[in-house]
Amino acid sequence: MAVNVDERRCDRCGACVGVCPADALMLADSLEVVCTLCTNCNRCVGICPFGALSLKIGSELENG
Ligand code: SF4
Ligand code: SF4
Repeated sequence: MAVNVDERRCDRCGACVGVCPADALMLADSLEVVCTLCTNCNRCVGICPFGALSLKIGSELENG
């Protein structure tokens, strides 16, 4: 389980990186998700102003 990034929507604002308690998000040329660190807390999904993030649960996608 982890987070899916829609790169077409992501503005690389960095807001999600700041709220991740697991340090699973890293911003470089694009937003990278370290799936092994993600605890599925959903904070980043809620804070993204562009709706670029969605939670991956198996093959299901929430919010996207
Ligand atoms: S909060 Fe949304 S737009 Fe901002 S860096 Fe994260 S995914 Fe991209
Ligand atoms: S769901 Fe939670 S742990 Fe996973 S990347 Fe988003 S803020 Fe970090």
